[in-house]
Amino acid sequence: MRVCWLVSKDRSCQRIKLPHLEMVVIGRGPETEITDQKCSRRQVQLKADYNKGYVKVKQLGVNPSSIDLVDISKDQEIKLKPGQVLHIVNKRYPYSVQFLEVTGACAAAKEATETSSEKRAQNQPEKSSISGKRAKMEPQGGASGYTLCDSSKPGSSTHWNQSLKACMKNPDLQIYKDERVVVIKDKYPKARCHWLVLPWESIPTLSDVTQNHLELLEHMQAVGEKIIQQCSERDRLQFRLGYHAIPSMSHLHLHAISQDFDSECLKTKKHWNSFTTKYFIDSKDVIEMVKTKGRVAVDRDASKLLQLPLKCHVCNLQLPTIPQLKQHLKQHWPD
Ligand code: AMP
Repeated sequence: MRVCWLVSKDRSCQRIKLPHLEMVVIGRGPETEITDQKCSRRQVQLKADYNKGYVKVKQLGVNPSSIDLVDISKDQEIKLKPGQVLHIVNKRYPYSVQFLEVTGACAAAKEATETSSEKRAQNQPEKSSISGKRAKMEPQGGASGYTLCDSSKPGSSTHWNQSLKACMKNPDLQIYKDERVVVIKDKYPKARCHWLVLPWESIPTLSDVTQNHLELLEHMQAVGEKIIQQCSERDRLQFRLGYHAIPSMSHLHLHAISQDFDSECLKTKKHWNSFTTKYFIDSKDVIEMVKTKGRVAVDRDASKLLQLPLKCHVCNLQLPTIPQLKQHLKQHWPD
């Protein structure tokens, strides 16, 4: 099944569904989170053609919308193809289009994803302070979260579980890098602050880690700590650095995550339990295991941890649903 999304380039999680041959009008408003008065509430009209693989864009507002920085005039209709950038108004608010094949498993999750948006901290240059803004985000397809699915096989470079490898190489997404590691923001953050530290060396997963990687693991932890130190919210929040016992995404990645779990991306019991049970293995424990055993021993039954009842990680109170749990969390981490 095909689907077309208009994806914000500023806030990579914000995307708007464009159904086949249906008119969609966007502009200033909650869907785009554009508040700029220069942008009309009905700034552009979009019509995706799934067969032709492009979106027809018509400017309705007075101020110019543009494609690849070329202005569209009022009432003019221009084709927007994948790879091109649509600026909604005055060369601001960039978006691109994506045509995706959605697999059966992802199709179920898809319905809930139609008008999601995200407020994520802007990527910061190295050494700058990193602020953790509230995240408002995409629904997730897998245990830990991502929805962009294609029909390729897991080993294939275009399969969703390979996407970290591409993202880590994208300079626009790198918030820190050195000769051994790179840090990117988690695309579907499960808390106000959520980063991933990835080694340049190709290490598919925790089970591929050996004693030869000890220094690298220590460096990953040190970089994670440094990123947290640079976060403007570090005094208000608490953080953990660790790995998922059974990661969903290929390429070793260390999570640096604040413990508020205040994010719309955190939607499921699996998300919750993956960060608050023993499924989340602290970086220092991984390092200790590698030092003493030469490798990381992951509990074979780790996946069962994802099914545990929902419990507050601060006070252990059991809550029946994610919304109730989130409401409860506000008392531990007020705005
Ligand atoms: P896990 O593999 O379970 O340790 O978690 C993978 C993490 O990667 C999740 O927290 C996802 O939200 C995140 N993620 C998925 N795709 C991307 C991406 N393209 N860029 C950055 N983070 C991603």
